[in-house]
Amino acid sequence: MVSDFTATKRDYYEILGVQRGTSPDQIKDAYRKLALKYHPDRNKSPDAEEKFKELSEAYAVLSDNEKRKAYDTFGHAGFDQRYSQEDIFRGADFDQIFREFGFGSSSSSFGDLFGSFFEMGGSRGRGRSRRGADVQYEMEITLEEAAKGVEKKITVGRADECPDCGGTGSSTKRRANCDLCMGTGQVRSTRRMGPFGNFTSIGACGKCGGQGTVPEKACRECGGTGSVQGKTALAVGIPAGIEDGAYLKMSGAGSHLGGERGDAYVIIHIRPHEIFERHEDDLYCEVPISFAEAALGASIKVPTVSGTATLKIPAGTQTHTLFRMAGMGMPRLHSGGRGDQLVRAIVTVPEKLTPKQKKLLKEFEGPSGENLRENKKKGFFDNMFG
Ligand SMILES: [Zn+2]
Ligand SMILES: [Zn+2]
Repeated sequence: MVSDFTATKRDYYEILGVQRGTSPDQIKDAYRKLALKYHPDRNKSPDAEEKFKELSEAYAVLSDNEKRKAYDTFGHAGFDQRYSQEDIFRGADFDQIFREFGFGSSSSSFGDLFGSFFEMGGSRGRGRSRRGADVQYEMEITLEEAAKGVEKKITVGRADECPDCGGTGSSTKRRANCDLCMGTGQVRSTRRMGPFGNFTSIGACGKCGGQGTVPEKACRECGGTGSVQGKTALAVGIPAGIEDGAYLKMSGAGSHLGGERGDAYVIIHIRPHEIFERHEDDLYCEVPISFAEAALGASIKVPTVSGTATLKIPAGTQTHTLFRMAGMGMPRLHSGGRGDQLVRAIVTVPEKLTPKQKKLLKEFEGPSGENLRENKKKGFFDNMFG
C-alpha cells in the first residue's frame, strides 16, 4: 500500500502572519494587506491565485468567532470535519473589504474566483457527491518513535469496491438512463454566496455519479452502491519530529464510492514520557546529581531521546541549575535541525550515611558550620542539614 502523504495544511494564523490571540481588527488588516498583494486581478504571478485562495480561506475562518473557536480547539483535522469548504466561506465579511479595494462585490471576477474555490472543494472538500467518505484513525506513538520517525501498520474500516459487481452497483450489465439528470450526467445548481451574489455551477449528478446511467437491476451484495464496508491495512510513514495532535493525510486512502475515494486522516497522539517533557522541539528533564558531583564537578550520563549523552557539571553547581544541550532535542519537522535538551540538575541529599561519611561531613562543615552556611541563601543546605 502506497502511503501518499501531503504536507499538513498550513496554519491559518501563519498564513495571515498573525499571532494566535490576535484581535479581529488585526486579522482583518492582515487579510486586507495580503489580499491586495495577491489578488489575481493585480498579481499575475502563477501562484497568486492559489495564495489568494489560501488567504481568503484563512480569513473566512478566523473572522468568524464560532469557526475560529472550532479551529483553535480542533485544528485543521477537526475543523474540516465540522465545516465543508462551502460552510467556510458562508457569512464571511469579504463584502466590505472588497468594496474598500474598489472591487464591486458583484464583480464577476469574484464570482469566478470563489466559484473555483468550490470546484477545488470537489477534490478536497466534503459534502460533494460521489466521492467516498474520509476515514479517520487515531494512533498513539512513543516520544522515541516521534523523534526518529517510524512506519506503522494500521487497519482502517472503510468502504471498498464491491467485488460482486466490480463497483458498478449493477447485477447485470444492463443500465438505464438516470432519471435525475435525464441521462446527461450533470446537474446545475445555483448557490447564493453572500456578497458574491448567486452563481451557478454544473457538477456531476449525485445519483449516477456523472455517468448518466444507473444500474437497471441493483447488485444484491452492495444494494446498488458499488461499495461494501471492509477493513484494509495501510502503512503509515510518520515523519521524525511530528507533534502531538498532528494529522497525516493519506490522499485517496479513504472510502470508495463511485470510483473516487475519500482521504484517510491519521491523527497522532504522543504518549506522555516518563522522563521527558516536550516543549515544541525542546525536551526537558530533571537529573539527580550527588552533593559531591555538584561541589567537585563531574561528567555525568544523561538520558536523551535516542540513548544517552554526557553532560559536564562544573564544580560548584547549585541545585536546580538548568543546562542546555544544544541540538539534542526533537527534530524540527518543518525547518530541519533539532531543538535542544534542557536538563535541570537536582542535587540529592543522601538518606543514609555511614559513620565514616558522617564524620567527613562534620569535618567539612567545621565546628560552627560556617563552611556550609555561607551558601545558606542558595537553599539546599537547609534541606540537607536542617
Ligand atoms: Zn455490488
Ligand atoms: Zn444522473
